Amino acid sequence: MIRDSRGVAGSHSSVLRRANSIEIFHAIRLHSGISQREIGDRTGIDKSTISAIIKQFDDLGLLRREPGEVRKGRGRPSEGFVLNSDAGLMLGIDIDPERLVVMSAGLDGEPLHVSEHSPIRSEADFGDGVAGAVAAHLAAAGHSLEQVRSVGACLPGLVDRSGRLISSSNFRWGSLDVAGELSTRLGQPVWVDNDARGAGLAERLFGCCVDVYDYVFIDSHSGVGGALYLEGAIYAGSLGIAGEIGHTKIVPHGRICQCGDGGCLSAYISGPALRDSFRGSGLVAGSFVEMKAMADEGVEGALGVLDEAGEILGLALSNFINLLNPPNIVIGGGLAVLAPHLMPPAERVLRRHALPEALEHCTILISELSQKPHSRGPLAVALQGLSQLNGDGPFPW
Ligand SMILES: [Zn+2]
Repeated sequence: MIRDSRGVAGSHSSVLRRANSIEIFHAIRLHSGISQREIGDRTGIDKSTISAIIKQFDDLGLLRREPGEVRKGRGRPSEGFVLNSDAGLMLGIDIDPERLVVMSAGLDGEPLHVSEHSPIRSEADFGDGVAGAVAAHLAAAGHSLEQVRSVGACLPGLVDRSGRLISSSNFRWGSLDVAGELSTRLGQPVWVDNDARGAGLAERLFGCCVDVYDYVFIDSHSGVGGALYLEGAIYAGSLGIAGEIGHTKIVPHGRICQCGDGGCLSAYISGPALRDSFRGSGLVAGSFVEMKAMADEGVEGALGVLDEAGEILGLALSNFINLLNPPNIVIGGGLAVLAPHLMPPAERVLRRHALPEALEHCTILISELSQKPHSRGPLAVALQGLSQLNGDGPFPW
């Protein structure tokens, strides 16, 4: 047995086989109807390995076949592979202080049903509250827990590698074993992550980074969060909480943040912080969309607040660029909504503070996926758990 730097166990050949299986699974997921020849072109995996893995997928009931297109001069049309929509269900649970959202999806991760439930009010209500919402969701969607192969849950706060919530300034709960509690209640494997890291992973699996292996993700909701997706994987750090971009320090002796410290990025460009800044200019804006609408109308106070916020964002982005030299930065959530007003001042600051060579080789992407009303993060976490390399997942690959 070997265990590599990412904690992957197995013999060399079994690790390689799992890696190939995962790559082929995602090629079929992303390019529904793909032929065996196209899988080879996209993944570089040899024909006999692909045949063996396709047979394994058939044995697991994962695939359907579709007749391929007849192409001139190509002889017999090749069949295309499609993930079998009946092969299993995934659940994504978004645990937010203001609402609890449950999503179900097939193995391709595309949502089938979405339901909203009352938020969890206290730590003591956690297990019953989430299990009750899942039961109601499955009943309304006509599904059962037995069909579920993987569950992903996201919540704001520090979540360690084992799926334990260490602390959360949003919930103000103590330490809570979210993964343990939910897997006991649901009787299914449950993977748990921080909400921003889930949203960052969703960009890789469903969004603007499907073909991107290296990016920094930053978003803003009730706080500012982020994900470091470096060289093909989320960088988790020693405890598993890496990516707390919102608590990087931007202003010495600055505004007090939800974390209790001063001068954090989150204290300037989170939703509540921007709402406060609007209020300071005599404006009431409840949401990022309302803030954008005011700026679109040319309301002077709104333009001033967003110009200042854009400069702060630009300062933060300069630090990431100078520290990590990332080829891509993804702007998500409320920051993506406000991007038309935030990015011009941010770019002004970037030109001043980012290393010119690093800035030149960094593409800034504005996420569309993370502007949708329901985060795909929990489903991304479920899909990642389902198709993980370490062999602990539900699929025997
Ligand atoms: Zn902070």
